[in-house]
Amino acid sequence: MNRNDLTEQILHLKKERNALILVHNYQRPEVQAIADYLGDSLDLARRATQTDRSLIVFCGVHFMAESATLLSPEKIILLPVLDAGCPLADCATPEMVRAARLQHPEAVFIAYINTSAAVKAEVDVVCTSANALKIIGHYAKEGRTICYLPDKNLAAFAEQKLGIKIITWPGQCYVHDRLITAEKVKILKHSHPDAVVVAHPEAPPEVLQLAEIVTGTAGMLKAVEHSRTSEWIVVTETGLIDRLHREYPNRRFYGIENAICSQMKLTTLISIRDALEKTQHRITVPEPVASKARQALNRMMELTL
Ligand code: SF4
Repeated sequence: MNRNDLTEQILHLKKERNALILVHNYQRPEVQAIADYLGDSLDLARRATQTDRSLIVFCGVHFMAESATLLSPEKIILLPVLDAGCPLADCATPEMVRAARLQHPEAVFIAYINTSAAVKAEVDVVCTSANALKIIGHYAKEGRTICYLPDKNLAAFAEQKLGIKIITWPGQCYVHDRLITAEKVKILKHSHPDAVVVAHPEAPPEVLQLAEIVTGTAGMLKAVEHSRTSEWIVVTETGLIDRLHREYPNRRFYGIENAICSQMKLTTLISIRDALEKTQHRITVPEPVASKARQALNRMMELTL
């Protein structure tokens, strides 16, 4: 079956099942093309709460579907590929967090949204790349000791921006930390000297130093939307660049070659069709983990109102 036939089949099934398709910015272009909403993990989890449709296909990785489930427990959230995980999220386990809490009983524990629900249940509050500085800054102002997990680069960025010390975690996203390098960004800057460099804070400090703007994917989209700059070097996973090319055909976007998240690309049109046809794979979070993780997510919402 070709791509067009598959897309038609998905759209037909979506209508028949009254489903909503949420798609992360890092997904394949053909998956982005069938999205009801495209966005980052928090934006999509919020979208899930706002719809009256009770069946949602979440095209992303496991922790994202869990977050949507936590915020919309009454809805059926499907992850087309059950094995689509996030290696960054895997850098922290609930056991590791419990051990760290024993070592630092005075600290407030802040987890990146890229963590499992079981890890979120062990921390005080969650944050995203968009609101990390605000959340960490809030507790820093209170004079609290802060433990931030699991992304060491985002922690280093917050330390530098806020002028504070954080107890950090040895975790990283292999796409932003290893596949993206300062050398590759320098080569792009050399070839496109007028381009504005916008980089994701999961990239290492030597990469962020080369950027004019450091922000998550939602911030990158806003930066492009609110600027007349026609050339951009976009330092993140290539899926966002596919989106930018599509939405701004008259501007030029240069990405880092091979900055591809293999986990994000596991979702295909076939897996989405199968998810809709067979109602698979439903993501659930058991109690009491769900209630505790929801509390940490809700605390983030309160602090960012
Ligand atoms: S790009 Fe990095 S943080 Fe995002 S899902 Fe892939 S491994 Fe995880």
